[in-house]
Amino acid sequence: MIMEKIQMTTPLVEMDGDEMTRVLWQMIKDELLLPFIDLKTEYYDLGLKKRNETDDQITVDSANATLKYGVAVKCATITPNAARVEEYDLKKMYKSPNGTIRAILNGTVFRTPIIVKGITPCVNNWREPITIARHAYGDVYQNVEEKLGAGDKAELVITRADGSKETKLIHDFEKGSGIVQSMHNMNDSIESFAKSCFNYALDQKKDLWFGAKDTISKQYDHTFKDIFNDVFEKEYKDKFAEAGIEYFYSLIDDIVARIMKSRGGMIWACKNYDGDVMSDMISSAFGSLAMMTSVLVSPSGVYEYEAAHGTVQRHYYKHLKGEETSTNSVATIYAWTGALRKRGELDNIPELVKFANKLELATKQTIEEGKMTKDLANITSLTEIVTLSSHAFITAIRKNLENLI
Ligand code: NAP
Ligand code: MG
Repeated sequence: MIMEKIQMTTPLVEMDGDEMTRVLWQMIKDELLLPFIDLKTEYYDLGLKKRNETDDQITVDSANATLKYGVAVKCATITPNAARVEEYDLKKMYKSPNGTIRAILNGTVFRTPIIVKGITPCVNNWREPITIARHAYGDVYQNVEEKLGAGDKAELVITRADGSKETKLIHDFEKGSGIVQSMHNMNDSIESFAKSCFNYALDQKKDLWFGAKDTISKQYDHTFKDIFNDVFEKEYKDKFAEAGIEYFYSLIDDIVARIMKSRGGMIWACKNYDGDVMSDMISSAFGSLAMMTSVLVSPSGVYEYEAAHGTVQRHYYKHLKGEETSTNSVATIYAWTGALRKRGELDNIPELVKFANKLELATKQTIEEGKMTKDLANITSLTEIVTLSSHAFITAIRKNLENLI
């Protein structure tokens, strides 16, 4: 049977990457996408070699293309450290591509686990994925801190716009040495974080939860609570009611307790530090970083999809030696399906949306039939399993996909 390929109208911004994920990227395109879709992409090679050749301009260009077209799909990339500078003979230690892209898109990252039968979360009442949204500006990540000796005094000095000064005593260390820390955030940044979260909740038709410590931190955390509340009341209350979803604010401790008792399914907006910590808890509780999708959403509604894991360097070196690898491609496949589905929705191409859904279904079916990569074989509760190589796993998904189409 000769099948007609699905046509696209607007290109996807395709950001290629490094090491093992670059190998998977090509396999996914060859086996799972190109036979079925007349794939239209604007290709940017964010592989470290190309970034070095272009003085990292390629990363900036790819982010600007994302602003232009609205949807991007990104492969994992190396963030260079000293060892990488030597390995790739780099002109300099380039910044993290994700950081560069995030600064240009001004977005929020949402991370969601992929749930399949046989890989059960260790919290057994969690039935639906919990999505973490992490505020990526300020707080302890841009702090100013200092060690103090006995007899030192720490004060907070504020110079107002009119030049007047206010001094608040933080602590007098007359009785012994200690430590002090200050941090800040910006109302604009909190507001765009809130908007990204409300928009994403509407997009996903899921409830949004947010928690901060406003009872203890009556100015700082309370401002987060107030800004979220103002934005919700002004712009989102009616839209949420229409969509049948809820915005729920509570103390962070109460949120944590309720999350543990919940069946999941909500988007959990977190302050910067809470998001850093809780996203690691959520991803390990749900099974594996290789089963975690990640999307960067700008407040203006631009989407960049990727896998949450890195370039899986150790597997790549095995691959280079000609050894067989068993690297999990699920999160990278879901980056593609997320981007294709969004493109289909924006361009009104229902076939593309259906295709994305079928590819996800075929991926889940493959694992649920017991065919999986080694990382999952190590943690599954299924008993009859076959551990597949990177390529054989993708081929098994291809078979299921063909049956669905
Ligand atoms: P990593 O690539 O996520 O891999 C860490 C380990 O986790 C692997 O060695 C592997 O464990 C396991 N793992 C991760 N993804 C897997 C998959 N898809 N299938 C099977 N196992 C998987 O993190 P890393 O080794 O710390 O970092 C490698 C490079 O990735 C670094 O250069 C870093 O800069 C970059 N990175 C990029 C991104 C991004 O682009 N978003 C994010 C994080 C890191 P075993 O070796 O035990 O099998
Ligand atoms: Mg963390």
